[in-house]
Amino acid sequence: MNTQRKRPPVKRALVTGCAGFIGSHLTESLLADGVDVVGVDCFNANYGRSQKLANLANAREWDSFDFVPVDLSRGELDELVDGVDTVFHLAAEPGVRASWGDNFQRYVQNNLVATQHLLNAVARAGTPRIVYASSSSVYGQAKVFPTTELATPAPQSPYGMTKLSGEHLCYAFSENFDVETVSLRFFTVFGPRQRPDMAFNIFSKAALAGEPIVVYGDGHQTRDFTFVSDIVAATRSAATSAVAPGSVYNLGGGVRSSLREVLGIIDGLNGGRVDVTYSTTVPGDVRDTAADTSRARRDLGFAPAVSLSEGLEREFEWLRGQIS
Ligand code: NAD
Repeated sequence: MNTQRKRPPVKRALVTGCAGFIGSHLTESLLADGVDVVGVDCFNANYGRSQKLANLANAREWDSFDFVPVDLSRGELDELVDGVDTVFHLAAEPGVRASWGDNFQRYVQNNLVATQHLLNAVARAGTPRIVYASSSSVYGQAKVFPTTELATPAPQSPYGMTKLSGEHLCYAFSENFDVETVSLRFFTVFGPRQRPDMAFNIFSKAALAGEPIVVYGDGHQTRDFTFVSDIVAATRSAATSAVAPGSVYNLGGGVRSSLREVLGIIDGLNGGRVDVTYSTTVPGDVRDTAADTSRARRDLGFAPAVSLSEGLEREFEWLRGQIS
């Protein structure tokens, strides 16, 4: 592995997937700290364009924000990366369950072809660093908890496979060109603007509408949930910290909780009126996830600060505001 390098503060960043859940929070955080941001998004069809436009509304208030509606897998990217010191690559086709069957082509296009296309442009431009949003899904059903980055990845879904391939592409570029890549394995992210296909969003909306909540599995499955502002802080830190090019980090909130615990919190937020039914598990869903974040704590100063109950309340209130 090459020598570790600390980088100067980010001045001009490219954020891909800037209209998405996490990308929009990251964009606003950078803008608020005086960073010039070029944001890219193609409004792919995983959920409504109207929510993505709403996600972008705050960022568009800033003169230092430049939005470019380009599909990374097809568009001309050299101009986009020109003059940029950091690329935050969050654009992707996310979600485990939807990645089977005919949808696979979209995952290959938006997760692999787009990443390769972007890395080519970054290598040509000599952009110093690219931070890549990877996923806990690369582990599949881990054998040891908490799971360290040394565990052998074994994705259990086409989505996880494409995210792992993206990491491998980053590594290949860092070894062969003068590009520093950092891959961050996000563990189930939640908070306001969470994607409508994600569990907290679905459960909370059903609760608010007085409809039954359908849980796939027995509800005892566990996840390491991570609040979005904690992900944003670590993603920004990965842009400047002294990390070995091509390195990989787990980012998990640090408290492993079952879906039944989550449902208990939502029940409390909804005044005790939650009706839950349990259904069969879905292909690709793993039983448990739990991140060992020692490496991120040491190198990125990762220190998740928002608890499950506090973060869930913020997401619930955001959804209540959307509905009323
Ligand atoms: P999101 O769908 O809300 O945001 C992704 C954005 O990327 C969307 O707005 C989409 O339109 C855009 N996009 C997709 N393909 C594109 C392309 N070819 N060109 C330009 N834009 C494109 O998803 P999210 O939940 O915010 O996830 C952001 C990143 O974090 C993704 O890379 C995802 O794989 C990763 N991740 C998310 C989670 C989570 O819990 N949300 C967990 C692990 C990893």
